[in-house]
Amino acid sequence: MRQISFETIVSNVKDMCILANHYLSNDMCSALEEAVEKEKSELGKKILNQLQENLEIADKEQIPICQDTGMAVFFVEVGQEAHIDGGLLTDAINEGVRKGYTEGYLRKSVVGDPIERINTKDNTPAVIHYDIVAGDKIKITLAPKGFGSENMSRVFMLKPADGIEGVKEAILTAVKDAGPNACPPMVVGVGIGGTFEKSALMAKQALTREFSARPTIPWVKDLEDEMLEKINKLGIGPGGLGGSTTALAVNINTYATHIAGLPVAINICCHVNRHITREL
Ligand code: SF4
Repeated sequence: MRQISFETIVSNVKDMCILANHYLSNDMCSALEEAVEKEKSELGKKILNQLQENLEIADKEQIPICQDTGMAVFFVEVGQEAHIDGGLLTDAINEGVRKGYTEGYLRKSVVGDPIERINTKDNTPAVIHYDIVAGDKIKITLAPKGFGSENMSRVFMLKPADGIEGVKEAILTAVKDAGPNACPPMVVGVGIGGTFEKSALMAKQALTREFSARPTIPWVKDLEDEMLEKINKLGIGPGGLGGSTTALAVNINTYATHIAGLPVAINICCHVNRHITREL
């Protein structure tokens, strides 16, 4: 068994919270740069340039990219030969979030109860998804999720007979309904198959995938390309003010499903598609 200390997890998660809220990943930065070149509308270009400028200011002045620093969502791969020394992994992650959001002066956006709505004042608890894997390492991916775009996400329980055309329609419906509310240009995460909750989880995880890591299943790759093209013809554009850049990417994950169903989940993220990964 390899020992990983509770404190190592806390300090890494703390740093990850601060970094993810100040810098976008390289693939997101490149996608925004490419979008400026390709955008057909002058106003759209102007808004994309402002988004670039916003990234530069965040870097230079060490302020968050967006005021909504999100709810901290984690995907954690735990090697079954790894052991946390000194406490529970969930407690370590939440302590890291507490320190990151407090010491990094990030907005605290979490209420402890969905109806009573009292702010927990430290952005905990995080939403944590665990996967047990081979090996003795722990791989932590953090994706702080803003709720402007989260609120526009959807799950469709399609019938098998709806087929791939039904899936396309569901994705386009979700994006059209989101419109300017999702702070476009967006990244569209899609989960097809599994069950109700599995499809939603796949859609969320798809948002953390590098744009260059394309699917190995040919029809999924084709569907990503087709949907990106169709979404960018909707005319929603940067900031929702019109243009040819409504989405920067469509990332699709799939899984086996039941003979009687075809779940499709669409998790929309804004242009602030934050994610960071560390392996400990
Ligand atoms: S949806 Fe994204 S860009 Fe819009 S306010 Fe929320 S985090 Fe910021």
